[in-house]
Amino acid sequence: MTEPAPDLVNVGSFVTINDAEFARMLLESEGIEAYIADATIVSMDWLLGNAIGWIKVQVSAADEPRAREILAQWQRELRERPPASESDAIPCLECGKEMPLGVATCPECGWTYLGGQGD
Ligand SMILES: [Zn+2]
Repeated sequence: MTEPAPDLVNVGSFVTINDAEFARMLLESEGIEAYIADATIVSMDWLLGNAIGWIKVQVSAADEPRAREILAQWQRELRERPPASESDAIPCLECGKEMPLGVATCPECGWTYLGGQGD
């Protein structure tokens, strides 16, 4: 075997093999060779997955900056996707009930985002 050992670095950790596989395909669609590490161990023992930091996606060190950029962009898109309902509502930090946009005081428990200041 004369296969060069690539200098692999982690660019992301994923909870499920599906996410890791999606990330790998995303990177490869951008021309970056990506590998999934630890997937076998995780699938054999879910609890062990906690100990080894989930399923890692690795690329060669030369591709790392671009790979991180691509994955960060992907994560941003996931975050910016609005939830299925009440996309503008924010949960009350006290009771967890969703507060309407622009309302600073929870209608349920009276907790307010404006607390802690003033008299
Ligand atoms: Zn509340």
